[in-house]
Amino acid sequence: MSASLLDGNKIASEIRAEVAAKVRGVIAAGVRPGLAVVLVGHNPASEIYVRGKVKACEEVGIHSEKITPPEDISTAALLDIVNELNRRDDIDGILVQLPLPAQVDPKKILLTVDPAKDVDGFHPMNVGFLSMQRPGLVPCTPAGIMEILRRSNIAVAGQEAVVVGRSDIVGKPMAMLLINANATVTVCHSKTRDLPGVCRRADILVAAIGRAGMITREFAKPGATVIDVGMNKVTKRDEFERLFASNAKREETFRSKGSVLVGDVHPEVADVAGALTPVPGGVGPLTIAMLMSNTVKAAKMRRGSRVAELSRV
Ligand code: NAP
Repeated sequence: MSASLLDGNKIASEIRAEVAAKVRGVIAAGVRPGLAVVLVGHNPASEIYVRGKVKACEEVGIHSEKITPPEDISTAALLDIVNELNRRDDIDGILVQLPLPAQVDPKKILLTVDPAKDVDGFHPMNVGFLSMQRPGLVPCTPAGIMEILRRSNIAVAGQEAVVVGRSDIVGKPMAMLLINANATVTVCHSKTRDLPGVCRRADILVAAIGRAGMITREFAKPGATVIDVGMNKVTKRDEFERLFASNAKREETFRSKGSVLVGDVHPEVADVAGALTPVPGGVGPLTIAMLMSNTVKAAKMRRGSRVAELSRV
């Protein structure tokens, strides 16, 4: 292995410490930032994510509220909950955990969240602000990736960046942030021709696909920075062997848990890349850290003009 590993846990804990200091500052100025997380029903993965978000709030001093409507809630009833949170002055951030049950229209819900409280950065108003380089709330995962690059002293301006994936949550905002940071950006997707050839042009390669170990060594330019956003659970033995043959530590996890977590990047890419985010412990921890950061930013943007001291924190 030649690539240096970009330690997401370390960078996320730095950011959380900085956010905690800012929270202490805004509380001293008379405002306690508040985050409301709406979790509909009992999706086990969503419950784990929400638990992590609430715990992170406690650690940095943000007030958090978990609202848990039943699985069969209607779009109208969920809109009422969001509108009530929009009205509350003590709530700075509103996060509606996805996915929502089939009977709920997620677009209507996300459009109703007040853009000033949209800490996920999914509202079209914030998407527009990002595109126009105006202050707004930026989606947490791509914002976290920019922090990894910045805090690891990886140059972005003038570099060739390739983003594989064009989702509204990761791929598109990632591309926009890289453009805004003066990279030359190519966005790839399932219809891209010669994907390995396009990826090999990248000084910075971001994989946000959702396919275990799809990015193999022939996708990577020697020395490239490779950012692995994927989080995939591998449960089949043959798939495990393709990715982790002769990796004793992973073998132990696979045997004891029956699965391992793997990114979109094959571990062999570490032989070619210059720097690489591991999975787990790479991009993942940054997502929650940036959610905390966005909540404080939202509080300052919305309430700062009313509390003079707040805008100086
Ligand atoms: P998504 O909405 O499913 O988008 C996947 C993208 O990958 C699509 O644009 C799709 O192309 C593209 N794609 C699929 N198969 C491809 C192929 N064979 N060749 C080239 N492109 C292909 O997924 P997402 O929400 O962006 O998430 C991507 C991954 O990141 C998932 O594993 C997810 O779990 C993970 N994730 C991690 C975090 C974190 O905190 N670490 C946060 C969010 C997401 P088309 O548009 O053509 O279909």
